[in-house]
Amino acid sequence: MEWEVFIGLETHTQLQTNTKIFSGASVKYGAEPNTQACEVSIALPGVLPVLNKQAVHCAIKFGLAINAEIAPRSVFARKNYFYPDLPKGYQISQFELPVVGKGAVTIQVPAVGKNAAYEKVVNITRAHLEEDAGKSVHGAVEGMSGIDLNRAGTPLLEIVTEPDMRSAAEAVAYAKQLHELVQWIGICDGNMQEGSFRCDVNVSVRPKGTEKLGTRREIKNLNSFKFMQQAIEYETRWQIETLEDGGTIHQATVLFNPDTGETRAMRSKEEANDYRYFPDPDLLPLVITEADKALVQAEMPELPEAMKARFETQYGLSGYDASALTTSRELADYFVATVNAGADAKQAANWAMGSVSAKLNSEDKPISASPVSALQLAQLLKRIADNTISNNAAKQVFEAMWNAEGDVDVIIEAKGLKQESDSGAIEVIIDEVLAANAAMVDEFKAGKEKAFNALVGQAMKASKGKANPAQVNDILKRKLSV
Ligand code: ADP
Ligand code: MG
Repeated sequence: MEWEVFIGLETHTQLQTNTKIFSGASVKYGAEPNTQACEVSIALPGVLPVLNKQAVHCAIKFGLAINAEIAPRSVFARKNYFYPDLPKGYQISQFELPVVGKGAVTIQVPAVGKNAAYEKVVNITRAHLEEDAGKSVHGAVEGMSGIDLNRAGTPLLEIVTEPDMRSAAEAVAYAKQLHELVQWIGICDGNMQEGSFRCDVNVSVRPKGTEKLGTRREIKNLNSFKFMQQAIEYETRWQIETLEDGGTIHQATVLFNPDTGETRAMRSKEEANDYRYFPDPDLLPLVITEADKALVQAEMPELPEAMKARFETQYGLSGYDASALTTSRELADYFVATVNAGADAKQAANWAMGSVSAKLNSEDKPISASPVSALQLAQLLKRIADNTISNNAAKQVFEAMWNAEGDVDVIIEAKGLKQESDSGAIEVIIDEVLAANAAMVDEFKAGKEKAFNALVGQAMKASKGKANPAQVNDILKRKLSV
């Protein structure tokens, strides 16, 4: 039987504020346990929550960025449950009236194997503000568990999608793009190790051609894209096998174990009514006016899609290049800085996405830590453009700059990489090559095109790679045509 997969994501993004969502305690990561647990965080009787304006600002910014409805009036609700890291006995969240309503994110799904890359719209159901809970700490004290309430009250925006994604690749593409977007607009630092961006992934399957969605299981707290991919693939296979063996899927919350690559049920899924949601009587409804939105809009940076379109028209880049460069704001900024420093746009795009990105990836560095600055890259590209060095030599210069061996011209000089552009000298080399490779010349004249490339290779080799390849081509062509 053929099966179809449906995936919906709930993503918790930690908002970039200085203080908690309902108190003035710091949210800085990594402090000594409970040093940031104020009276609101530990829920002393009689304390009252005061809403953090900056958190609201972040929520509005997200809503505007995805063209969503922003509720003129939304309501905070108590989600009641018991857990040691939740001293109040309820989490303040939003339920029936969230701050951000329906919107959409356009994602680029990369090519996999034989399948070409494509674009897809993922619908956002809602995004709501809520507070994070504390953390249980196991093992800090022998034989005991501790509670750290530093994280309690950290502002979160939970972003919920429709079950629009149809494969692990689409889910990962969406998660990556959302991860980029929240950093791009400056509402979340995106640090996945520290838990600033974590995804719950709902997966169901149904026989192809049927109408009703299957029962979903929710994989909790994935904080790496690689694990997300593995977890969805495993979960999908497991559900299909279970159904094909005559079993049934029960709605459940499951955990992914990175060591085994398997998902395992943690608890049966609670229903919304188990939480006894009700409006929090300590908080007024959140009212957002047109003027509030206008203020946030004024701070909105150019968004990736608009920047992509501009790169195509302004710099003549292909759609593919423009969208690759705008996958991250830092990469886009680096590219623009390279062009502004005098490099050719197409070359700057190729190098930024090629050598620079490859090096950064292999060393697991952000572009802000690139040892080759945009200015240095531009200088290098100018030396290719003015024929001082060949593309190949440029790769060597780039390596050397990466290893902090100095500036472009210094390295070219020190390594003797200057290209031979004196046509007289190149002619001498070519005459020698032609004399020494009479067989190849005959092959070429007999119609073997490949022999020409071999001769170019010989000439380049004879010049120790320094001859200007375009000149070698021209001179060789001229000499062979007589
Ligand atoms: P809850 O709040 O109980 O987790 P929601 O109805 O809000 O439930 O849905 C949570 C997420 O689950 C959403 O992202 C939604 O798209 C997704 N989802 C709902 N039904 C399915 C389904 N049958 N298959 C896959 N995902 C689903
Ligand atoms: Mg949920």
